[in-house]
Amino acid sequence: MHLSLGIDFGTSGARAIAIRPDGKIEAQAAVSYTSNLAQTWLETLWQLLRNLPEVVRNHLDRIAINGTSSTVLLCDRAGRPITEPLLYNDARGVSVLERIRAIAPADHPVVSSTSTLAKLLWWQENCEDFSQARYLLHQADWLAFQLHGQCGISDYHNSLKLGYDVEHFNYPSWLPLQELLPIVQEPGSAISPIQSSIAQAFNIPADCRIHVGTTDSIAAFIASRASTSGEAVTSLGSTLVLKLLSDTRIDDTRYGIYSHRFGKRWLVGGASNTGGAVLKQFFTTEELIELSDRISASQESPLDYYPLLKPGDRFPINDPELMPRLEPQPLDRVEFLHGLLESMARIEAQGYRLLESFGATPLKQVFTAGGGAKNSAWTAIRHRQLGVSVSEAVQTEAAYGTAYLALEGI
Ligand code: ADP
Repeated sequence: MHLSLGIDFGTSGARAIAIRPDGKIEAQAAVSYTSNLAQTWLETLWQLLRNLPEVVRNHLDRIAINGTSSTVLLCDRAGRPITEPLLYNDARGVSVLERIRAIAPADHPVVSSTSTLAKLLWWQENCEDFSQARYLLHQADWLAFQLHGQCGISDYHNSLKLGYDVEHFNYPSWLPLQELLPIVQEPGSAISPIQSSIAQAFNIPADCRIHVGTTDSIAAFIASRASTSGEAVTSLGSTLVLKLLSDTRIDDTRYGIYSHRFGKRWLVGGASNTGGAVLKQFFTTEELIELSDRISASQESPLDYYPLLKPGDRFPINDPELMPRLEPQPLDRVEFLHGLLESMARIEAQGYRLLESFGATPLKQVFTAGGGAKNSAWTAIRHRQLGVSVSEAVQTEAAYGTAYLALEGI
């Protein structure tokens, strides 16, 4: 039996899922951590492997790792970190933003205080040991390097915010410090067999291959098994996140829309500030379940809200001052919840229509992830608003998606 192992590193923990060739889960392990230090990640990686049953390790055929996008390390020529990692949301790069604006196209993804490039330039100005720097690596690159031993390999998902040109497969000439940047490969492609010392230490077959990884959110998309143009994943978590597979690439910074390369296709994404965090303000989880059961989902609620925690949204309405609209509130709590879910479904539909109006492949089917995915009344409302099939994604774990990526490629 050949098993494919996906490992997901987040900000507070890591998870490993081993799957069989038919996609069924064989084993899983999880380890949490409180500090995002390189050494902690490394110990977590070894602990995850140890936590898998030995019989599973004996049958590993391929392994890939995903990390949080734009979480990076600066390493010396031996791949040893020369500073602690900077996390995805670390905005100290705001101090080099003017430098980036001076060289990058106006609406490029690197023009952000949290972009990977901003972190690299910040290090250049503030890291005492910068002269020893040889490799800039993403979290997923560095952890995979521990397994395959070749420093300086990344993937085109993690590298988008570094400035990699996913259209032409190169770094644009305006990008500085190119001698430090990793070689970029297709996510899911094989790098090399696992290092023999690690294979021996964990009883993993010597010919187990390490594959190129991806980011956590793309791994979660892959987990849904959406694979043809027009298929999408809506994530109903604290916020509302849309991801649509499209034949065409779309980028529009006004709305925060950008595209990741996905083989020959594009994974187009947009995110709204509306979502489950607003529901939590008004209802407990038990109330959400109980009241949702009493909603007449086939009937459209006349209540027209724009549920937000605070003013401002970007997608599908680009207005930093957009006011939350939560009035009028009916006395009947079922009616109120119906209005909220209906309104969020309208925003979701508006989001997909916006992507379509910019030229994305029209929506054909939606898989759902996140806390709201289990709400069948909401699913029925969204089906009515979206006009396509809506179902819960069977798998949503990033670790599953990464195992599947190693198995099938992009
Ligand atoms: P995140 O990872 O973004 O914090 P989750 O995917 O864990 O979010 O989802 C949590 C959200 O799901 C909460 O904001 C909550 O309001 C929402 N949620 C939980 N249960 C339900 C439900 N039955 N119906 C609708 N929304 C729900």
